[in-house]
Amino acid sequence: MSASPSSSWSSAGGSAPRSVAEHAAVVASLVAATAVERVPLSEASGRVLAEDLASVVALPPFDNSAMDGYAVRAAEVADASEAAPVRLPVGADIPAGRVDVPVLEPGTAHRIMTGAPVPEGADAIVPVERTDAGTETVAIGAPAEAGAHVRLSGEDAAAGQVLLRVGTVLAAPQIGLAAACGSATLAVRRRPHVLVLSTGSELVAPGTPLEPGQIYESNGTMLAVAVREAGATAEQLSFVPDDVEKFRAVLAEKAVAGVDLVLTSGGVSAGAYEVVKDALTGNGVEFGKVAMQPGGPQGAGRLRLDGAGAESAGVEGAGVAVVTLPGNPVSSLVSFEVFVRPALRAAMGHPSPSRPVVTVRLDGSLSSPAGRRQFRRGVLDARAGTVSEIGTPASHLIGALARADCLIDLPAELQRVNDADPVDVWLLEG
Ligand code: AMP
Ligand code: MG
Repeated sequence: MSASPSSSWSSAGGSAPRSVAEHAAVVASLVAATAVERVPLSEASGRVLAEDLASVVALPPFDNSAMDGYAVRAAEVADASEAAPVRLPVGADIPAGRVDVPVLEPGTAHRIMTGAPVPEGADAIVPVERTDAGTETVAIGAPAEAGAHVRLSGEDAAAGQVLLRVGTVLAAPQIGLAAACGSATLAVRRRPHVLVLSTGSELVAPGTPLEPGQIYESNGTMLAVAVREAGATAEQLSFVPDDVEKFRAVLAEKAVAGVDLVLTSGGVSAGAYEVVKDALTGNGVEFGKVAMQPGGPQGAGRLRLDGAGAESAGVEGAGVAVVTLPGNPVSSLVSFEVFVRPALRAAMGHPSPSRPVVTVRLDGSLSSPAGRRQFRRGVLDARAGTVSEIGTPASHLIGALARADCLIDLPAELQRVNDADPVDVWLLEG
């Protein structure tokens, strides 16, 4: 494809397509790391720890019983057997949660429950199953080694010990640990806030009748969901027609301070009525081609809003980050996956912003255009270690996109992949 002036990345006249990696770096640089905030544990799921977590207390915080049974001095029950049990008076009852635990006097046992503090003087727990379960006097039918069934204070963690490092992705076990250590909140990076705005005079909202020539708007909804699935927050704006003034007006009103990224779809390729390109060229956003398919036409930059509108919106100065995705639904979502999702996750401190990649064998064969990195929609057979293409490379086939669970990543220089050749796939689930 020959380079037209509209495929330039800069007004200086450069027209070479960017590589995927180059454009990914540009987009990543637009989305700054967000500030650290503290969130309640109930809101920490999926977030990334932004400060090391040190335990306030030792874990366990005190020596406690691992069994329901009797706290004893091990030496006093050394000779116990079923045939010749050792009988001890029961001094006290220690349920879990008892805070005033009496000392174990020599020659006695305390009845104790799992999780209850081991009394001073005791050094072993005899499980209730090895006794007659007596409440006044207990017959102990088995010896216990010193330390038996005693969970020692600090054996999981010492007080003050760092238990989770910065960059840990928080899920149920990590959040449970934080609670166990006495933390009510966790330090995480704020979720970036993304405005999603689609363009196209042919678009109508789902749920309303279609006139000939119209289609249902899908990118805005799809991208807003993808933004949220990436861990950021999204505000989906009402889509606008291919009208530069209307598009600009929406941005001037909505691209306010506190917006980390404006994500548009449509209106960036080489035709007429390219509303996004027409509205933003010369305002800090650059447009051009990326050597990929789908998703060739792209734009990105920092939008300078002129005049009083910008001032009141609080985005004068550096300008608000804008990434403009192409309108074909598959192009839109694939370029979100390739450029935007990693940038949003990196801004939240994610240790692995990209999708997991596995190498599997291709089921079938594919050809791919020279000089463009291609992302084909795939269905993985994890058990067989194979992937097969679903649909075709055409970038309007949202049905195939919705049935795919991975993207087959074909390097720019590759032109043919034969059956059973290894290919990298990006896993879209999980
Ligand atoms: P564009 O990038 O605006 O030239 O659009 C390319 C193709 O994607 C056209 O067929 C559009 O109708 C379609 N398209 C653009 N925006 C959307 C959208 N928000 N939802 C669904 N299809 C769209
Ligand atoms: Mg359009």
